[in-house]
Amino acid sequence: MAIREIITIGHPTLRLKARKVTKFDQELKRLVDDMIETMRNAPGVGLAAPQVNVPERVIVIETQADEEEGTPAEQYVFVNPEIVKASREKEEGQEGCLSIPGYVGDVERHVWIVVRGQDVQGRPQRVRARGYLARIFQHEIDHLDGTLFIDRVADPSKIYKVTAADADQLDAEAAEAVALLPQEPVPAG
Ligand code: ZN
Repeated sequence: MAIREIITIGHPTLRLKARKVTKFDQELKRLVDDMIETMRNAPGVGLAAPQVNVPERVIVIETQADEEEGTPAEQYVFVNPEIVKASREKEEGQEGCLSIPGYVGDVERHVWIVVRGQDVQGRPQRVRARGYLARIFQHEIDHLDGTLFIDRVADPSKIYKVTAADADQLDAEAAEAVALLPQEPVPAG
């Protein structure tokens, strides 16, 4: 396993439509292992392959156990994920992105979704996710189509700067859309 470099906004790979995976080989396994290690190291709750400059349809997600909510830690690896069902109801919540360091935004997402895809060996899998987990899935799957959370906010006033130090890393695309309001950092994907 190795930690890979996470590319940030302005890098063209983040805006590509990622390719469907057709080969379930050793290279794919290595990519997934590296993505998990990179996500943990960041730290983040999700990572999509384009964020490590690999324009392929692969995502990893790992959430911590929440004792208050009584939910266990969960890990998902999805190859070629697709949202096949989604709640009509949406809710707004805060998101960050490892590729947009220093910023969070209020983003509307489906409350629950059903995701279909494959595991690292190419076997079909399906999950129904709701709430926070559904939000992470939607954020990561967006990355596979070149979509970032800043594209999903209703208006630029819903993007907040977290720290001054990270702002230099952003290009004009994000910087223009920023309201300089202090905000607590949230887990990022
Ligand atoms: Zn992201």
